[in-house]
Amino acid sequence: MRLGYDEKTEAFRDQFVAWLEANLPDPLLTAERPTSSAGVPEWARQFQRQMFDDGWLSPAYPSKLGGRSADLFEQMVYLEELGRRHVTRSFNPQGLGIVSASIVSFGNDEQIERWAVPIMRAEKTAALGMSEPGAGSDLAALATRAVLDGDHFVVNGQKVWTSGAHDADVLLVFVRTDPEAPKHKGISALIVETDTPGLDRRPFPDLGGPDHVDFNEVFFDDVLVPSTNLVGDLNDGWRICNGALAHERAMLWVMWSQSLDNMLDDALAELNGTSHADDDVVLDRLGRSIMDSHAIRLLGHRQLAKQQRGLVPAEQSILKLMGSEAQQDLAALILETLGAAALDQAVDSTLRFPYENDRGAVSWSDRYLFTFAGTISGGTSEIQRNIVAERVLGLPRG
Ligand SMILES: Cc1cc2nc3c(=O)[nH]c(=O)nc-3n(C[C@H](O)[C@H](O)[C@H](O)COP(=O)(O)OP(=O)(O)OC[C@H]3O[C@@H](n4cnc5c(N)ncnc54)[C@H](O)[C@@H]3O)c2cc1C
Repeated sequence: MRLGYDEKTEAFRDQFVAWLEANLPDPLLTAERPTSSAGVPEWARQFQRQMFDDGWLSPAYPSKLGGRSADLFEQMVYLEELGRRHVTRSFNPQGLGIVSASIVSFGNDEQIERWAVPIMRAEKTAALGMSEPGAGSDLAALATRAVLDGDHFVVNGQKVWTSGAHDADVLLVFVRTDPEAPKHKGISALIVETDTPGLDRRPFPDLGGPDHVDFNEVFFDDVLVPSTNLVGDLNDGWRICNGALAHERAMLWVMWSQSLDNMLDDALAELNGTSHADDDVVLDRLGRSIMDSHAIRLLGHRQLAKQQRGLVPAEQSILKLMGSEAQQDLAALILETLGAAALDQAVDSTLRFPYENDRGAVSWSDRYLFTFAGTISGGTSEIQRNIVAERVLGLPRG
């Protein structure tokens, strides 16, 4: 059996490949790394803007929003070509993938003009304020409060894990606007400019080391936010939460799959010609990773075929779970095999774009640590297993 695309889709691919070949930035420039999820170097801003202006940033959107009204299959080959080259569309992934996407889906024309387009054109950067100390997996428990007072909301509370907030111009913040309503029903979404008085961002390092600072705690102390910054309807924030994330997640498996393949290439290059390449245990585990890669791709195509027929695919959680854990397993194998050498063994990533999932990774141990970003963010592995158990297998709630 040979899986393939029709001529129209392949023509779309050719067009995009030609554009990439003509427009990929000089590798000398791309060696400059982002400082955080919203700390975008100038070359990357220019590249993102060029993608937007030429209709290649978000191909599913119409041309005025940086796209070319691409269908599902065209979006697939687009992501395949980006992944194959380790090209990331934006160094502000939450800004592009979640914040601007939410504003486009749920905001009004003025909000799209004021925030979504500048974020897409990398003129502004954005961060996502969902999680709180008491609301991560159970996001609907969020307690940051916003009270409407005349033409402003008064916001008080705290967010945490807000990636890149210290470098961001705006935050999309989910707040509780009706504490009396059932917890899913009293939430709203606000755009908050980060220079608003009373807003305090405190960046802190993660397990990537003392210099790897992306997370923030964000404190709100009587922060006044204009009521015109409300995205969607009052108390309709839960729909926005789910809508924006679903939009982003639907095709994420292509990236997971490509990222796993890239890691497999690197792993094989690392082990080839060494004594590890004759070790049955290592070969068995490598074989498993290769099978994971095939399984993810086939499952992803099944999801795509269902989406194309207008069905809501159940595969999404399985793909997120498998994609993130398969990378972790493979990185763990290389770490165990190389031993102490994994601490400083340089992965040759300076001459290509850092991929969204291994930004800044310079050694196999870095890379391994970074795989935890995949198994925690966007819903932990345990939560994905719960979803698969309940919604795919129909098991009773635990
Ligand atoms: C790299 C990275 C970037 C992030 N960026 C952002 C961001 O930009 N903005 C933002 O708002 N948030 C962000 N987050 C936060 C992320 O959304 C949360 O970490 C995630 O939702 C889990 O919540 P928590 O950390 O509070 O863990 P908790 O929900 O407290 O979970 C702790 C442990 O308990 C398990 N658990 C919880 N509930 C259940 C259950 N019902 N059944 C079984 N097990 C359960 C979890 O799987 C986990 O192992 C980011 C996280 C990471 C890792």
